[in-house]
Amino acid sequence: HYRCRSAFKLLEIDDKLHILRPGLSVLDCGAAPGAWSQVAVERVNALGTDPAAPTGFVIGVDLLRISPLEGAVFLSQADITDPGTQRAIQNLLPAEKVDVILSDMAPNATGIKELDHQKLISLCLGLVNLSQSILKPKGTMLCKFWDGHESRVLQNKLKEQFQDVRTIKPQASRKDSSESYYLARLYKGK
Ligand code: SAM
Repeated sequence: HYRCRSAFKLLEIDDKLHILRPGLSVLDCGAAPGAWSQVAVERVNALGTDPAAPTGFVIGVDLLRISPLEGAVFLSQADITDPGTQRAIQNLLPAEKVDVILSDMAPNATGIKELDHQKLISLCLGLVNLSQSILKPKGTMLCKFWDGHESRVLQNKLKEQFQDVRTIKPQASRKDSSESYYLARLYKGK
């Protein structure tokens, strides 16, 4: 019932590393078509399906249109790097900040590997900057990157700002050999 097979990557990562739990609020960057948001809605109990557990919140953002999903709030046709989008997110959040930032974002691939790599790294670096205004202290960030020369730059920046940073290569993304994720936990905040 997932909108896209990418759901299985997040399920696999979360089964192993437990980044989502009932009551957490989540920002899903690059959310279209919405499979990660489906997983997040289930795991943070955004619909209150389990009345005994706390109710979480999910907001998804994408350049593309995203069909509505019960339990999630979507900002469609919105660029996460745009300050206007960042203000809109903040206005929609129930609290000032989120517990988890997920990013499965991917820029339109040009086919030039080095260029695509750099574009995705700069998107991720932008998210680390955004964390300052949008991620709670001790919060978590999970972001996809394509491996290359500048992966280290992103990894080092994450290590500056989070206490625990690891690289994850889900089984479910084996076919895309250059795709990995950084999982950064325990945001140091300001
Ligand atoms: N995780 C999604 C799911 O499970 O349904 C799939 C995400 S797809 C691999 C990557 C998405 O990132 C694309 O829909 C693309 O439009 C989006 N994206 C790329 N750059 C973006 C940006 N600057 N702001 C918002 N979304 C962006």
